[in-house]
Amino acid sequence: MQCTRCGSEGVIINRKYSGQLLCSDCFIETTRKKVMRDIRKYKLIERGDRVLVGLSGGKDSVMVIDILDELRERNIIELEAVTIDEGIGGYREDGVKIAGKICAERGIPHRVVSLKDYAGITLDEIMENPSRSACTYCGVFRRWILNREARKSQATKIATGHNLDDETQAIVMNYLEGNLENLTRIGPMTSSAGGRFIPKIKPLREIPEKEVALYVLARGLEVHLAGCPYASGSFRREIGDFLKQISVKRPTIMYSTLRGFDRIKEILRRDLQGSRKSGVCAECGEPASGKLCKACTFIDELKG
Ligand SMILES: [Zn+2]
Ligand SMILES: [Zn+2]
Repeated sequence: MQCTRCGSEGVIINRKYSGQLLCSDCFIETTRKKVMRDIRKYKLIERGDRVLVGLSGGKDSVMVIDILDELRERNIIELEAVTIDEGIGGYREDGVKIAGKICAERGIPHRVVSLKDYAGITLDEIMENPSRSACTYCGVFRRWILNREARKSQATKIATGHNLDDETQAIVMNYLEGNLENLTRIGPMTSSAGGRFIPKIKPLREIPEKEVALYVLARGLEVHLAGCPYASGSFRREIGDFLKQISVKRPTIMYSTLRGFDRIKEILRRDLQGSRKSGVCAECGEPASGKLCKACTFIDELKG
């Protein structure tokens, strides 16, 4: 087998959806180009942006920071990273360590903030007596903390590591659950009414999860590989397994899910815009649709 791009031996990937066979160097280069092209196409980043990366130390966020670092080196953006410690004993420590190392090596400002400091409780403590799934708590609290951290450091964008699999999972999940409001918030860049949400960007939205894993391997980047102990059996996981399974025979299915969704999203948004309220939380000042934001609602519940 030869690389379809440069002809060299040592092919590391057969991209079934595009028919390319690629060597390590060509794989890295085409992947970086694809991400940069999406950044331009969707105007995710502009010159002078101060970008905050939510860096867990997992493969996705490590790849994001590795790619955005090039824009920092070219003085196009400023870059900084925050790692959120949810308080998951025996799991999060490794990710925190790896995240710190990556930033130290590159001179990227980095800080670690904990759910305990923000909400007075760890995820382990929440899960002793939960009334919701760990992923629901974690998702709400992480978004809330990231937004507050971004505001603190006057970041103009928040970059997350969501990949193609994550995005198609979210689309299919929300379809199946009938959550049309949630669907309107899915996309390469999300910003919310009122301007109090720092725009969130997903530079890896079109990169399959498998290729994210291969990218960090090919680049020799250290990542935290363990899966979250609370993720098993989640609805998201079931949908993810289903999508992976049908992708074997239909390699373009995740892309067509994404493209189809992107076409109807604007229509959905126009139709639903009137029903979306936006205000600020009486407790923390973050965006909220009711009196309190979701995070503060959860905190009240957990205290009560
Ligand atoms: Zn090649
Ligand atoms: Zn709040």
